[in-house]
Amino acid sequence: MTKYDVLVVGGGTSGMMAAISAAEHGAKVAVVEKNKTLGRKLLVTGGGRCNVTNNRDKEEIISHIPGNGRFLYSAFYQYDNYDIMEFFKSNGVVLKEEDHGRMFPITDKSRTILEALIGIMDRLEIAIYAEAPVETLLFDEGKAIGVLLEDGRSIHASCVIVSTGGRAMPRTGSTGDGYKWAKKAGHTIEPLYPTEAPVTSDESFIQEKTLQGLSLRDIALSVLNKKSKKVITHQMDMIFTHFGISGPAVLRCSMFVHQTMKRDKTQEVVMSLDALPDISKGELTQQLQQLIKNDGDKSTKNALKGLVPERYLLFALEKADLDENTPLKQATPEKVTQLIEFIKDFRFTANGTLPIEKAFVTGGGINTKEVNPKTMESKFTSGLFFTGEILDYNGYTGGYNITGAFITGRIAGMHAAEAALALSNGLS
Ligand SMILES: Cc1cc2nc3c(=O)[nH]c(=O)nc-3n(C[C@H](O)[C@H](O)[C@H](O)COP(=O)(O)OP(=O)(O)OC[C@H]3O[C@@H](n4cnc5c(N)ncnc54)[C@H](O)[C@@H]3O)c2cc1C
Repeated sequence: MTKYDVLVVGGGTSGMMAAISAAEHGAKVAVVEKNKTLGRKLLVTGGGRCNVTNNRDKEEIISHIPGNGRFLYSAFYQYDNYDIMEFFKSNGVVLKEEDHGRMFPITDKSRTILEALIGIMDRLEIAIYAEAPVETLLFDEGKAIGVLLEDGRSIHASCVIVSTGGRAMPRTGSTGDGYKWAKKAGHTIEPLYPTEAPVTSDESFIQEKTLQGLSLRDIALSVLNKKSKKVITHQMDMIFTHFGISGPAVLRCSMFVHQTMKRDKTQEVVMSLDALPDISKGELTQQLQQLIKNDGDKSTKNALKGLVPERYLLFALEKADLDENTPLKQATPEKVTQLIEFIKDFRFTANGTLPIEKAFVTGGGINTKEVNPKTMESKFTSGLFFTGEILDYNGYTGGYNITGAFITGRIAGMHAAEAALALSNGLS
């Protein structure tokens, strides 16, 4: 029977990096993947272009991992986003930077990243078991010793790294299999929920599709708690859809929609949309007074043209009970105030997000307090390591999730290799 030093379960983003790291640290490594091919999720990332990491400093990266980002500090001190960039560069992959520090392969193809990883795994002679779904992990006296495959075969190893991902986009293979094994090893699974997901709403303007397809650029979107305090605000773009809202600002708010509903024990949460976040209410009031003075004879619609996108303006006028064809100067001060209020603070309710399967990322997962942040090893079962989305951390879109997956993979691979080699040298 072949026995490996390190066995990685899940040949996805973090599993491939964990395997490479373990092999680079001298271990005999195997990867077990249920799909025919490795890295299926990696291929669809970044719209097929793979936003592979982010070119900002540690603190900023961690602040963009709002779900337990602090857990990653120790790992970041051993291997960080700049190391990821250097890793690809030294393996012949040229990366380029786009807005907000987002890094992509210069080819604009995820396949470039995947092929590089597979090439390195080949070179390091990492054994790949493809189309080999793992049924369960094998334990002996509180120690992980291998896996049992669905076809009945078992594979043994000194250390096992579980990199089976979350539950987002299950057609790529991440169906959440690892959670039950972690539970069996004594871990707590924090409730799973969708993050980086479009937000749903029952509001009549959504149900009636009044604004469907309308994009708003550079708006500020906030989630409010039951005391009407802003829990979070994101200034980015958004779009109205047939079920609610989507786009970058919305995806970033989505985790807070769930958290706020849970904290406030409600089925709904109030959101506030500021269509002109770069000017204050006072400045907008002055601007409107100027327009009333200079263009007051024009129809309200024409006088206010360009203030916000036309469809949104018409919606705003309706909400403020202003007739679009009446001269602007006839608008009463109360209605102008109402219009300003709407543009700066349109409030509507959201009742959740699309399900995990349609989210980009899974929130919740293995409680990070139960995992050693320096090594990614389980605090309950020796020789068992966890990496990537299965852990209870989650980042915004922008390269932060792949960064987390690569970094936890790197660290787990390194420490699993050290532990396995120490075992085989009779050191522990
Ligand atoms: C559409 C989409 C786009 C995204 N774009 C980006 C982006 O551009 N940048 C970014 O940072 N993040 C992005 N993400 C998030 C990012 O892809 C994930 O956070 C990351 O891939 C997680 O890595 P992982 O290794 O934990 O899991 P995965 O990459 O999902 O890998 C898990 C692997 O385990 C295998 N597996 C599962 N169960 C078993 C089993 N029983 N036996 C054997 N193998 C098993 C799966 O088949 C899979 O290959 C995106 C996500 C989605 C859904």
